[in-house]
Amino acid sequence: MKKILVLPGDGIGPEIVAEAVKVLDRLKADGLAVALEQGLVGGSAYDANGHPLPEDTLNQARAADAILLGAVGGPQYEALDRPLRPEQGLLGLRAELKLFSNLRPAILYPQLADASTLKPEVVSGLDIMIVRELTGGIYFGQPRGVRTLDNGEQEGFNTLVYRESEIERIGRSAFGIAQQRGKCLCSVDKANVLEVTELWRQVMSRIAEDYPDVELSHMYVDNAAMQLVRAPKQFDVMVTTNMFGDILSDAAAMLTGSIGMLPSASLDANGKGMYEPIHGSAPDIAGQGVANPLATILSVAMMLRYSFGQAEPADRIEAAVSKVLDQGLRTPDIAAGGQATVGTAQMGDAVVAELD
Ligand code: NAD
Repeated sequence: MKKILVLPGDGIGPEIVAEAVKVLDRLKADGLAVALEQGLVGGSAYDANGHPLPEDTLNQARAADAILLGAVGGPQYEALDRPLRPEQGLLGLRAELKLFSNLRPAILYPQLADASTLKPEVVSGLDIMIVRELTGGIYFGQPRGVRTLDNGEQEGFNTLVYRESEIERIGRSAFGIAQQRGKCLCSVDKANVLEVTELWRQVMSRIAEDYPDVELSHMYVDNAAMQLVRAPKQFDVMVTTNMFGDILSDAAAMLTGSIGMLPSASLDANGKGMYEPIHGSAPDIAGQGVANPLATILSVAMMLRYSFGQAEPADRIEAAVSKVLDQGLRTPDIAAGGQATVGTAQMGDAVVAELD
């Protein structure tokens, strides 16, 4: 029996997570062996306990096999001291659980191809997975700071640093994911300029020998950015550093034009993970029952595939989402002009009905 910690969070979080739980309950009825437990994180945890990541939640998270998170944050928390802000709940979970491998798919269902700013033929059917190193690189490297030089001028500095073991760890995570998908892995670096990423390239090439079924290629990050908007369908899985991944994954996500559709995962070395939609708590529509629950439902599919090794129910969820789109069901965020729309619960119910 796998334990899932459910953390609805703030804003639309509870609304969208409720629909994902309906999907899990439906799969349980078919024999999926999971037990669900609820917990508090973010602003709602602060309201209840005075802290965005209470010790109880942390203990629940450590004991769980996977975590499903809605979203955190809201304007009412913006004046709090930084350590008490809702995002610290998320950052704390990532750090405590050592979630170093960030999986950001960019999928564009053909039914929604018009939502992209790119031509439909360039993006229709897009299915890329970007694997971003999440706990190292220039965002964490020491030394860092702003210093005053002898002549009085200020100088800012950060350090891009990766150890071989860190590169190998994210590399093995990405190769494993490529094995479960199209078996093509593109490692993105700037090896022509940065020694760190020269090492990155060497390590990726070395460990490739352990994955003979995966085809490894290398690409400079500037070219990768260009190729993502020129011909994104050439990619299957991309693996890259923290900062390059931060930028490329946002660019890739926006190729799809629909933030309410995209799931994500952050994994540790043993495949334990936290799964969440890429969007935030959408305070502008919270409580209205109109938020798109599909990114959260698709996060459940990722959980089954990557933490529990259950590809069959994951495929079923993804197929059910595709079918409700075929039926023309749209929440307002993915509706074309004049198209009729459904609410959060209706969308969730429709996915469950397709699973039946
Ligand atoms: P956001 O993603 O919450 O919203 C951006 C826009 O997209 C809004 O117009 C919103 O209505 C819409 N949107 C987002 N998700 C949607 C969905 N499922 N269905 C329909 N429409 C959707 O980003 P923001 O407005 O910049 O941030 C709002 C709050 O969320 C802030 O407090 C921010 O810190 C937080 N945030 C949290 C996370 C997270 O929990 N992982 C991520 C990003 C932002």
